[in-house]
Amino acid sequence: IAPREPPKIQRLEESVVNRIAAGEVIQRPVSAVKELVENSLDADSSSISVVVKDGGLKLIQVSDDGHGIRCEDLPILCERHTTSKLTKYEDLFSLSSMGFRGEALASMTYVAHVTVTTITKGQIHGYRVSYRDGVMEHEPKACAAVKGTQIMVENLFYNMIARRKTLQNSADDYGKIVDLLSRMAIHHNNVSFSCRKHGAVKADVHSVVSSSRLDSIRAVYGVSVAKNLIKVEVSSGDSSSSCTFDMEGFISNSNYVAKKTILVLFINDRLVECSALKRAIEIVYAATLPKASKPFLYMSINLPRDHVDINIHPTKKEVSLLNQEIMIEMIQSEVELKLRSANDTRTFQEQK
Ligand code: ADP
Ligand code: MG
Repeated sequence: IAPREPPKIQRLEESVVNRIAAGEVIQRPVSAVKELVENSLDADSSSISVVVKDGGLKLIQVSDDGHGIRCEDLPILCERHTTSKLTKYEDLFSLSSMGFRGEALASMTYVAHVTVTTITKGQIHGYRVSYRDGVMEHEPKACAAVKGTQIMVENLFYNMIARRKTLQNSADDYGKIVDLLSRMAIHHNNVSFSCRKHGAVKADVHSVVSSSRLDSIRAVYGVSVAKNLIKVEVSSGDSSSSCTFDMEGFISNSNYVAKKTILVLFINDRLVECSALKRAIEIVYAATLPKASKPFLYMSINLPRDHVDINIHPTKKEVSLLNQEIMIEMIQSEVELKLRSANDTRTFQEQK
């Protein structure tokens, strides 16, 4: 067969490019919630509340009491690559904020209707403005506002029919959002979180500011989890070593029973996933505990900022670490040690 004529290469329209990119950053309602909550944390909020309607497809509303957004910044707020957090590439490796690419809000405006209400310190009124496809739909309007920022994302994926359909059928997104906020709430225990369905009186996540991590875990995951936890700690290397890190956390003991592992993992205060670490710890539990129970684990790892590349994934969900294998091994042996000694104490007490 004769090869067919090569098809003509064309430049995509910018609006198409933006919508495709947006669909990668905002994969599902929970990704929008994560970005919004991280923005609220970056804005030094001490209270963050989330309201969700229809699993997030109809409405996601995140309100905080942070520093707000200046009126003069509102025109470019939702343009792609506008940020207050990064000015040059090198900043990526010294960054303490969650955000850095100035892509989240822009992305949301390409796949949803976004309305921002915000007030900065010392102002007598706030401003409200709606956005579509990166730009303001009208001049900001003066409005009454309390401290901070409220962002409303409505009709998510209204212009991505296939995505909307799959999500409508899955109906699982509210659960994912509750799970996300539960994890955030136990790590950021200096911030109070709440999450509820639109119109519901009762919140499904409700945390208050607490200085004790264990209290936060109790408030969010319940007594049955909190009473069965063992504290774990690993500290390794010094500033000159290439494998320097600190880990601090809580792991469930042999009285805790669950069907699914919950690993709440923060690396440099960023909520991430690490399937290799999860697997390594599950192996320890399976080998150490008689019952086939899966563990609950909360771990916060801190390492030099330049040992983590946070920019490898569009949702920033996975990070790549220097010396990952050694770190996992060290954490694994600490977990094993603590589990064994907790078990030995128990057996000893039972024998007495
Ligand atoms: P990034 O977080 O990567 O900077 P975003 O698109 O998420 O990008 O946000 C753009 C900018 O909008 C932020 O850099 C910040 O200055 C501002 N911003 C967004 N959300 C809030 C908020 N809740 N409170 C204060 N400022 C905010
Ligand atoms: Mg952000």
